[in-house]
Amino acid sequence: MNSLFEKIINREIPATIVFENERVIAIKDINPQAPIHLLIIPKILIVNLLQAQEGQQALLGELLLVSKELALQLGIKENGYRIVINNGVDAGQEVPHLHLHLLAGRKLNWPPG
Ligand code: 5GP
Repeated sequence: MNSLFEKIINREIPATIVFENERVIAIKDINPQAPIHLLIIPKILIVNLLQAQEGQQALLGELLLVSKELALQLGIKENGYRIVINNGVDAGQEVPHLHLHLLAGRKLNWPPG
């Protein structure tokens, strides 16, 4: 069984793809929590940061750099944005495939709920 995001990567489930290369895909979140809500996802299955390996250092860094490029393209440099990674039950991780949330377009509360 593929993860939900693997099905999106394999085009078995539709999604609005805003970026893609050999290693990373970025899509619009289906249930946006801010005017801009993207998910930046490694194409290989890493369940969450608890499963990340040292050998994946470059890939993990690339996720952050892709999020920066998307932020620049979206013109949110001035107002800023938030990157969130939910890991496990207490963080409310719903999809067991690592993903960065990029949230922007409104004032975001801190601390998060
Ligand atoms: P998590 O709670 O695991 O950090 O975040 C999972 C995110 O995936 C949620 O924000 C949820 O709205 C989003 N999501 C769940 N199912 C789908 C889907 O089928 N398509 C897209 N584009 N996003 C999804």
